[in-house]
Amino acid sequence: MSAKSHDCPRCGMNSRLQKRAFSDQALAALVIWGDLDRRLVSQSICDDCYEELRDILIDRSAEVLTIDANTLGKAS
Ligand SMILES: [Zn+2]
Repeated sequence: MSAKSHDCPRCGMNSRLQKRAFSDQALAALVIWGDLDRRLVSQSICDDCYEELRDILIDRSAEVLTIDANTLGKAS
């Protein structure tokens, strides 16, 4: 079975990591706000991080809509 645990690249906790289905716009918002490192965008994270990021997106849902989803593709 694939129940192996790894250190989460975001919080460092040893946990079961999984890819998360955030939209490009949501990911761009999290990176801009400093809640998610740009390098971690395509990486798997733990349940705690996922819940934290999801809560942030819910709290700031109006702001997410103003974020340019292409931000991640641009060199800053
Ligand atoms: Zn984590």
